[in-house]
Amino acid sequence: MATRRIGGQRFDHGAQYLTATSPRFRSAVEGWRAAGVAEEWFREGGRARYRGVAGMNAIPKYLAAVLDVRLNSRIVEMAWRGGEWHLRTEAGEEHCGAGLVVTAPVPQALELLGGVAGRMEGRLKRIRYTSCFALMAALDGDSGLGEAGFVEPGEGPVQWIADNARKGITEGPGAVTIHATAAFTSSHYDEPAERVAGLMLEAAQGWLGGSGVREWQLHRWRYSMAETREAEPCLAMKEPGPLVLAGDGFGFPGVEGAFLSGFAAAMALSEM
Ligand SMILES: Cc1cc2nc3c(=O)[nH]c(=O)nc-3n(C[C@H](O)[C@H](O)[C@H](O)COP(=O)(O)OP(=O)(O)OC[C@H]3O[C@@H](n4cnc5c(N)ncnc54)[C@H](O)[C@@H]3O)c2cc1C
Repeated sequence: MATRRIGGQRFDHGAQYLTATSPRFRSAVEGWRAAGVAEEWFREGGRARYRGVAGMNAIPKYLAAVLDVRLNSRIVEMAWRGGEWHLRTEAGEEHCGAGLVVTAPVPQALELLGGVAGRMEGRLKRIRYTSCFALMAALDGDSGLGEAGFVEPGEGPVQWIADNARKGITEGPGAVTIHATAAFTSSHYDEPAERVAGLMLEAAQGWLGGSGVREWQLHRWRYSMAETREAEPCLAMKEPGPLVLAGDGFGFPGVEGAFLSGFAAAMALSEM
């Protein structure tokens, strides 16, 4: 749920909207709507698609307000020593705790845990993700995306295009997020940003309303959507110390899945 500013405009470049099907998540979304951080964007087949007010990251920001969150702290080591979990950051800080919940994409979590996941490792290695390029382009005029503000070609280079101005999270002119298909992303993943952006803009041309591109940025999501997931909503173990792995690779997909998995992780930890 990522939102970035480019030249004064906001771009959602990760999840574009969320759906709520389970009673637990529906009630959380109702709470966020009442708090003014989420609202309905559009409906499809009678089901609401919600967005964060002023961007998708409004929701995690709201949830994080009561937590002690360290941003831009990359964990490079996780180890169980002396009856505690020890985390070391890239900057050399140490954090300790009695229990550990890891929600990084599973391949990264496994690398960090370095064999600690023991008997869970086989199941965890079966969780796989697709990659996705997100191209953010600030236009010099309106996009050609019409009232709805999005289109989902889903083939060739382009999976999805949305105009963040029409979505209502930023001022105009057109501010488009273009997501590449998984096939296009994997076949061009290591190519220079200029070449990838050129190909994506060419493929998206018909939806840009004839407007030119003032500025663009490319983000490479290596772990975008979990394409094979663990059936359980999280995996927990007591040895060597309380450890829970969770996230959208477990149970249900997308933002709703990540939420339900987080809830399951909290329950599992409280029972250990
Ligand atoms: C392009 C794109 C479009 C999407 N569209 C939708 C959509 O429309 N609807 C929908 O429901 N879902 C969508 N999703 C999926 C949705 O974003 C995810 O399902 C959800 O964000 C998963 O949440 P999570 O907490 O499990 O993992 P993440 O949101 O991936 O969070 C994992 C976090 O772990 C952090 N991390 C990783 N390694 C370390 C480390 N070593 N140290 C410290 N931190 C670390 C990462 O920085 C990240 O913040 C989309 C995803 C992408 C990428």
